[in-house]
Amino acid sequence: MKTPRYTDHIQSLSADSPFIGPERHERATGQPFTARLGANENIFGPSPKAIRAMAEAAQDVWMYADPEAYDLRSTLAAFHDVALDNILVGEGIDGLLGDLVRLMIGAGDTVVTSAGAYPTFNYHVTGYGGTIHTVPYKADHEDLPSLIAKAKEVDAKLIYLANPDNPMGTHHVGADITRHLDAIPDGALLILDEAYVELAPQGTAAQYDVQHPRVIRMRTFSKGYGLAGARVGYAMGARDLIRSFDKIRLHFGANRASHAAALAALLDQDWLAQTCAQIAAAKITIAQIAADNGMIALPSATNFVAIDTQQDGAFAKALVQALADQGIFVRMPFVAPQNRCIRISCGRPQDLAAFAKALPKALETLAAG
Ligand SMILES: *Cc1c(COP(=O)(O)O)cnc(C)c1O
Repeated sequence: MKTPRYTDHIQSLSADSPFIGPERHERATGQPFTARLGANENIFGPSPKAIRAMAEAAQDVWMYADPEAYDLRSTLAAFHDVALDNILVGEGIDGLLGDLVRLMIGAGDTVVTSAGAYPTFNYHVTGYGGTIHTVPYKADHEDLPSLIAKAKEVDAKLIYLANPDNPMGTHHVGADITRHLDAIPDGALLILDEAYVELAPQGTAAQYDVQHPRVIRMRTFSKGYGLAGARVGYAMGARDLIRSFDKIRLHFGANRASHAAALAALLDQDWLAQTCAQIAAAKITIAQIAADNGMIALPSATNFVAIDTQQDGAFAKALVQALADQGIFVRMPFVAPQNRCIRISCGRPQDLAAFAKALPKALETLAAG
């Protein structure tokens, strides 16, 4: 008998990570990146009040965090005008997606997502033995009516939609999502991933009753609030659904400093507003850099911009590599036709200046073949 005895399913999986961190590249080359524009972190940083709260809470980190995250959860409940029981705090959206998939998906269960959408959902589904069905993007937007139609066809238990979308940065107005909610078939649950919603135009967040039985929405402190490494996200949904996470979630998965930082960040909406202003300015700069190099920036409702290289995926991939060689970390969509783009996170003026300098050089390298 061989030890350790993995499950048959786990043995069938490859150990390729959906994300390779920039640190691996830096270790391999011995060179730190000059500009970290690939992971959609908020390079403008969190509220100084969040940093202070984290520093103060650090002294108490010998204690497990409150497994009910009561202070943060009750403040979120007031902020969103929902009951405490409609909110769950978890280890980022990535962690919450894993818990949700564990609740719903076993071997042979089906889910629906868009081809080339945010990959962590798929990662969890694959890990639990589920089957993924996809529909294509429509003009660089995720396509909710097609996702719902596909869900009916394959009897999907989960439907994944990010609004705004990553990697394209496009969005739907909330009313267009709300309009389709009643068409979600019985037995299916829509996951509304709103990782970027704080940065999106007014009206992007769909309005509906939090007790809606076929939707769960997820938000995070990683992007707009600038706390990606703190690992705090939350889900809002019907009471029984939210309560069911208590059966399987990691009750001590977060720490006090992270919860304190998230709470302080939430209460500093002025900081979020000035972050949005810096992001808006960065998007204009990125669009200009794209245009200066004969490429087109797609409109973005997020803190990153997809730049259409007007070439194919192989070209975009080579460009991402050539930029890395110039010290610029960026990423790109995985699937055609979106993979004609490269994806640039909004950065400070010095980050974008480094990108502006590296891009024409990278393009020259490619042209030289
Ligand atoms: C960044 C991102 C996440 C990850 O959020 P965490 O809260 O840091 O886990 C989830 N969904 C989308 C669409 C993202 O872009």
